[in-house]
Amino acid sequence: MANLTALRDHNTAAVLGRIRIAEEISQVELAAATGLTAQAVSKIVQRLAAEGMITAAGRGRSTGGKPRTLLRLVPQARWVVGVQLDRSGLTLLLVDLGGRVEKAVTLPVDPRSAPREVMDRLAEQVEALLAPIPREHVLGVGVACPGPLDQRTGVLHQVTGRPGWDGISLRAELAARLGLAVAVDKDTTAGVLSQPGSADRAFVYLDDGLGAGLVLGGRVQRGARTNAGEFGHQVLDPLGPHCACGSRGCLEALCRAALAAADQDRAADLLGEGVANLVRLLDVDEVVLGGRAVLAAPENYRTRVDAVLQQRLPDPHWQQVAVSVARAGNRAVALGAAGLVLGPLFGEGEADALTPRR
Ligand SMILES: [Zn+2]
Repeated sequence: MANLTALRDHNTAAVLGRIRIAEEISQVELAAATGLTAQAVSKIVQRLAAEGMITAAGRGRSTGGKPRTLLRLVPQARWVVGVQLDRSGLTLLLVDLGGRVEKAVTLPVDPRSAPREVMDRLAEQVEALLAPIPREHVLGVGVACPGPLDQRTGVLHQVTGRPGWDGISLRAELAARLGLAVAVDKDTTAGVLSQPGSADRAFVYLDDGLGAGLVLGGRVQRGARTNAGEFGHQVLDPLGPHCACGSRGCLEALCRAALAAADQDRAADLLGEGVANLVRLLDVDEVVLGGRAVLAAPENYRTRVDAVLQQRLPDPHWQQVAVSVARAGNRAVALGAAGLVLGPLFGEGEADALTPRR
């Protein structure tokens, strides 16, 4: 049976990560790619094969001696559930080891519901998705929700518009209900993990709120209190409309006002101004747009944000920024949440953000 702690061992993660990237790879190539000895690779491969997570894919080209056995991942050997919990609903994805979505469920949640009710409902839905799967093949559950929250402890902090959730230990509550490892993170950070991309990239999420997830120098950036990315609350006009956060003229408030007036073009242009600020501050070269507002008119947002960047950057030819819309569409955040659990297995992300499995 797979023991998550053993799987998190650094060398094992390096080997699994390589197998996933290569799709098919020999033990000799694994040793070269990871810097591990042939003996260490052989031991890890034996264990992973015994646990059913990898298998022989066939014979590869040989450099003269006997043909090499190629190894590949067995995607259906392990499963995770990725969850997006937002102000109005739940999205749950059953995701296999290879990151493929097997099943998706979305359901509305009354924003007035008590946190306990919502967490009970969420746990029920997770159990229903996992019902056909042997429990020892379940790696855990990743949950993404609006911040502010403490990603290290999984405790929510004064989520805008949801006072009842302040101080709720979402991670511990769900882990207790499910008896599974649980990771919690901001929706925007999960979003940036939903697809591979540049080592310096941002996921800009315009939905109920507006925020950004950041990867810089190849690492997810969460900041000192794990609250980085409050992109929507940069003040563009100190005399502008009141924002839910208490300030005036935040980018989020300006975008909301434009959306309320059904002026998608203005909302997209404003978003472009914010993205231009972000590029100037952090020099990212890839921006992925997501969230319901964007997905309602994806091409319009992409082209208008791109156009504002061309205007604002001093040398747009040199400072090229790839602007795109999230590939997973409205599943991006829940898929990224699944990645919070899957990532550490392949040597990405931080395994200590997971609660221990009971
Ligand atoms: Zn604000």
